[in-house]
Amino acid sequence: MAKVRFTETALRDAHQSLLATRMRTRDMIPIAEEMDKVGYFSVEAWGGATFDTCIRYLNEDPWERLRQLKSEFNHTPIQMLLRGQNLVGYKHYPDDIVTKFVEKSYENGVDIFRIFDALNDIRNMEKAIKVAKDQGAHVQGTISYTISPAHTLDDFVELAKNLEALDCDSVAIKDMAGLITPTAAYDLVSKLKEETDLLVDLHCHCTSGMTPISYYAACQAGVDVLDTAISPLAWGTSQPPTESMVAALQGTEFDTGLDLKLLNNIKEYFEKIKEKYLGILDPISESIDTDVLLYQIPGGMLSNLISQLKEQNALDRYTDVLEEMPRVRKDMGYPPLVTPTSQIVGIQSVMNVLGGERYKTVSNEVKEYMKGMYGKPPAPVNEEISKRIIGDEEVIDCRPADLLEPEFDKFKSEGEKEGFVKSDEDALTYALYPPIAPKFLKGEAEEEELKPAHTIDENDGIGIPTQYNVEVDGDVFEVKIMPTGFMEIEETESGNFKPVEGAVPSPMQGMVIKLNVNVGDKVSQGSTIAVIEAMKMENDIQSEVDGTVEEIFVEPGDAVSIGDTLMVIK
Ligand code: MN
Repeated sequence: MAKVRFTETALRDAHQSLLATRMRTRDMIPIAEEMDKVGYFSVEAWGGATFDTCIRYLNEDPWERLRQLKSEFNHTPIQMLLRGQNLVGYKHYPDDIVTKFVEKSYENGVDIFRIFDALNDIRNMEKAIKVAKDQGAHVQGTISYTISPAHTLDDFVELAKNLEALDCDSVAIKDMAGLITPTAAYDLVSKLKEETDLLVDLHCHCTSGMTPISYYAACQAGVDVLDTAISPLAWGTSQPPTESMVAALQGTEFDTGLDLKLLNNIKEYFEKIKEKYLGILDPISESIDTDVLLYQIPGGMLSNLISQLKEQNALDRYTDVLEEMPRVRKDMGYPPLVTPTSQIVGIQSVMNVLGGERYKTVSNEVKEYMKGMYGKPPAPVNEEISKRIIGDEEVIDCRPADLLEPEFDKFKSEGEKEGFVKSDEDALTYALYPPIAPKFLKGEAEEEELKPAHTIDENDGIGIPTQYNVEVDGDVFEVKIMPTGFMEIEETESGNFKPVEGAVPSPMQGMVIKLNVNVGDKVSQGSTIAVIEAMKMENDIQSEVDGTVEEIFVEPGDAVSIGDTLMVIK
């Protein structure tokens, strides 16, 4: 047995899991030099949701973040999480964009590519793997770990062998919900070590509470690398704490040899950083949630689900939705629940329960999924339900990306003509997120303000008061703060407010990504008038009436809250 090595996730997964991926580059750089002395196997610092968050909320160029980190980490490889053909987005991109993205990621500083697919469909990983190998990068193929009647130990080992055949250097067991038991970890790691020559990395979240024990079992089975997070950013939906794991293995045959004093300096730094971000730390994500043992739902998804239900005023249906989720997952052929399948299954379950009838409303993503556009589900989908959702539409069985036309040159020349694309990196940013990238690339985006601690959204129920008594020159006024959209009320002659007739309110918080109508268009009831992206999903907004579009108040790229008026149809 050789010593065990660690991948530190503080700069990517840990803050993605606990702090809504909001850590700024300026909070990473001051500690990078110290982290570089530790002797980690790698620092996971890029990819996953960081790219999206940078341009959507932080007004930061993700490529610039990567270059800055690269200039600080001289000894430690920088690792990224890549969603196979989805890259750092939520849909399949054509091969030319995958190629360019991987090349540029390597060129700007990524040393290790961890590449996964939500369905474990290797066809969705092979392009990215090949390009990363061609660059000379270390490629870590990934098993998205889950438990279902369609997933056996042998299936996972088979996948690892196929990844090895594609020349991967290591394999990661990606246990996003912390479901792996100590026995399962022992068996899977042993088998992978026996049947492949790959380095084996175990990546777990602490959601279920079992993870540190599973990590020890993995050590006994010969695991090479464990993913951990410095303690202020550990536990809950994040990884086990680095220092605790170092101490636990000290003096054993698995001793990491890492210096606890040095780690302590890093810990103290991140304690202060955590303080700064306390306002966005959801207490739910920091705690252990044993529901995951029953429902196999990743922790991040649970807190999303709760806030979704609160928005709809339907928190009392929480248990119904939890119970619906495994049924939807079964109907869909037991996909592992990870981006994007976790959102797809989660939102469909909410729709099934709140809609009063299963699959009465279906997201675009579920339609695409049923058509095979995400790849091959682990088990066959429920035929009857599939039929109901997509009718007689064709189900593909080829590699989904084979159906996509090249797009990079189109985005590049279009962006150059508009003047906001000045490099291949800019063109990639644009190609990945056409609705939000232009605003960022034009320099019109603004950094979101950090929420002060303890003022959580009123949606969370425990946060800010909404009613105040305000004293002005001795007079006391009662002031109520209510969430309002713009243009949804107008002043009447009497000074009261009444709703605008024909206003179409946004049913959800999200971003307008498409408008299907123009002012003056006639629309009929049930026709799709706009598309709003919420929780990484596209939702069609339908007109509830027959009428004419009189006014439109939003444009693609606009963020909207529940109740904001999108347009007026009379
Ligand atoms: Mn993770």
